[in-house]
Amino acid sequence: MSEILVFCDKDETAFELVSKSREFAKELGATVSAALLGNGAAGKADDYFSYGADRVYVSEHSVLSDFYVATYADALQQIAEGEDVEFVLLGSTKRGKELAGRLAQKLNAGAITDANDVRVSDGNLVADRYAYGGNTLASVAVNTPKKVISVMPRTFEAGLREAKEGEVVNVDLDLKDPEVRVVERRDKAGDEVNLDEAEMLLCVGRGVQNKEDLEMIEELADLIGAEIGCTKTPASDWEWFSEERMVGLSGKKCKPSLYISIGISGQIQHTVGVMDSKIIATINTDENALMFNITDYGIVGDYAVVVPKLVEKLKSLG
Ligand SMILES: Cc1cc2nc3c(=O)[nH]c(=O)nc-3n(C[C@H](O)[C@H](O)[C@H](O)COP(=O)(O)OP(=O)(O)OC[C@H]3O[C@@H](n4cnc5c(N)ncnc54)[C@H](O)[C@@H]3O)c2cc1C
Repeated sequence: MSEILVFCDKDETAFELVSKSREFAKELGATVSAALLGNGAAGKADDYFSYGADRVYVSEHSVLSDFYVATYADALQQIAEGEDVEFVLLGSTKRGKELAGRLAQKLNAGAITDANDVRVSDGNLVADRYAYGGNTLASVAVNTPKKVISVMPRTFEAGLREAKEGEVVNVDLDLKDPEVRVVERRDKAGDEVNLDEAEMLLCVGRGVQNKEDLEMIEELADLIGAEIGCTKTPASDWEWFSEERMVGLSGKKCKPSLYISIGISGQIQHTVGVMDSKIIATINTDENALMFNITDYGIVGDYAVVVPKLVEKLKSLG
């Protein structure tokens, strides 16, 4: 029976993949397993079972206490070499993307990275990913005996948890000391923000040209309890925001209940990051802006006029 093996350095993303793999497993007649690596790995087994894993492979080998991508690729290779493992699903986090390529090379497998959707077709998994700078969607499948697919975080929902028994396999891994070592850790300059978990998100685009105007936009964000995100230019070129706040193909994928775009045209490279928002609202001077095609509530107008009015109204509501 074939096996779907899941791993991600972020448990929340791994839970999404384990939950979805349960559905794949039914269609494929497969089992679902997860690799738990590093300090405290053994203590997570029940969480993984509750999301649907049949089996977990556990190693708390000392060299796995820090995430060295080459070492993690070695560890996963040794686990995935088990003859039943046909599919390896990884989270397409920064680390997961690199891991996917390295692991696939070691397993002599084909790899797909940054999948935006995965489904079963003809006994295989088919993944959708954006191609040509986000202008088109390619549906791809791997034909090697083992297949590695890294999936964007929040592509799937972690399902409901159910108490469930599973098999714990303590693996004895043969791992070398890493060839690189961490000599110092420093906090990253800039802000720490988890945009992908924001319930309310307000994004600033190139239509907002005066940095001073951020003050009114921040006031609006505060009033509705929203995080602020942005398109590429305000982060990469103007450096108004850290890259952590960039939303889209090269940035974060978000699923807020409410997303408000201010001065954003709606190019696909941005909208792929907000497409799954429950409600989309737009403020733009151009009534033909692409953004309006996916908008639930739109205001055609200059943000410099509209935003202060919204702030005033919200304040009056207390
Ligand atoms: C490989 C690749 C990856 C990329 N990745 C990303 C990504 O992850 N995220 C991302 O965002 N972009 C990304 N981009 C860039 C993307 O293609 C677009 O260029 C970008 O999203 C456009 O940003 P924008 O909407 O802010 O600016 P613009 O397209 O310039 O739109 C500005 C909008 O503001 C409106 N406007 C102007 N003045 C006002 C006003 N006073 N009030 C209200 N509205 C006003 C205009 O009508 C216009 O619609 C990527 C590009 C490539 C090639």
